[in-house]
Amino acid sequence: MSELRQNTITKDWVVIAPERSKRPDEFKHRKVQDKRAEQDVKEQAACPFCPGNEAMCGEAVLTYYQKDSGKGPQAKWSLRVVPNKFPALVEDEETSRITEGIGNFFVKMNGVGHHEVVIEHPEHFQTIATMSREAVEGILASYIERYQQLSEDPCVQLITIFRNNGPRAGTSLRHPHSQIIASPIIPIQIRHVIEEAVRYFDTMGRCIFCTMIEQEKTVEKRVISETEHFISVAPFASRSPFEIWIVPKRHRASFAKISDVEKRDLAGVLRDILSRLYHGLGDPDYNYMIHSAPYHEDPADYYHWHLQILPKLSEVAGFELGSSIYLNTTSPEENARFLRGIKASNS
Ligand SMILES: [Zn+2]
Ligand SMILES: [Zn+2]
Repeated sequence: MSELRQNTITKDWVVIAPERSKRPDEFKHRKVQDKRAEQDVKEQAACPFCPGNEAMCGEAVLTYYQKDSGKGPQAKWSLRVVPNKFPALVEDEETSRITEGIGNFFVKMNGVGHHEVVIEHPEHFQTIATMSREAVEGILASYIERYQQLSEDPCVQLITIFRNNGPRAGTSLRHPHSQIIASPIIPIQIRHVIEEAVRYFDTMGRCIFCTMIEQEKTVEKRVISETEHFISVAPFASRSPFEIWIVPKRHRASFAKISDVEKRDLAGVLRDILSRLYHGLGDPDYNYMIHSAPYHEDPADYYHWHLQILPKLSEVAGFELGSSIYLNTTSPEENARFLRGIKASNS
């Protein structure tokens, strides 16, 4: 029989109906190929993120260089952050709300904000699962640098860091990259999770995320991995097959405030978890998102930053859109057990 489960943090409801589904290993939809060996010269020649094509992007706002590659124009980069060529939001002096219609029914504002692309690696066919731990640490360092810089803009209310991996996750560009969008508003869904966290804090006097970590550690069956600073779990009410949350053990509202030691640990954890998905499920498409408290609301006792990974192994369809109830045809406990059994590559 299926089960209705509620995510205590977001209050989302999910139908867990695993008997409708395949076994975890049946999600492995294609064999992992050594993409670096494909030698797809044409694709790389047209790729705006490949070395040699830098002019196809705007001027970098941040560049990291490869070790021992010297200085000056000949130096080889290891990571670049560039403005998005087709930005969802653009920099401006100020934000202004404009209303239209009878009783000011329609509300709009100018599309102020920032939209940047993190070109994570110079090699076209890499992905986080195949990168060195050092390279992943560089990606996290760039997220933190840009987060801190962008939060200085008084127009910015919320900074979202995310990675779309593969066409089903929203990108056709294979070159490894993630994106950062700084927006001038805090949408209702984000506000709702914060309000629920505040409510829990007011009642219980502690952070709901810290409580979740304790509970999952006690129950154990949904824990995928645990390190000194992080725990990775398949959430109790996972919205889709193989949803994973990576949560820091130390309470911090903002991602940008993590220590160097935590950053190093997170690089290993992120690479390890994505490598389990890569090898266990055949390089599935996925989105990951870093959820951090809105900058101006930090420090906060009630909110706890974390990273959510949502592999694209099922479609959001009419039922989800109509009811806001998610339908997951897999068991989070079964998925966690499957991922624990996958040997991640030499991490
Ligand atoms: Zn490329
Ligand atoms: Zn906490």
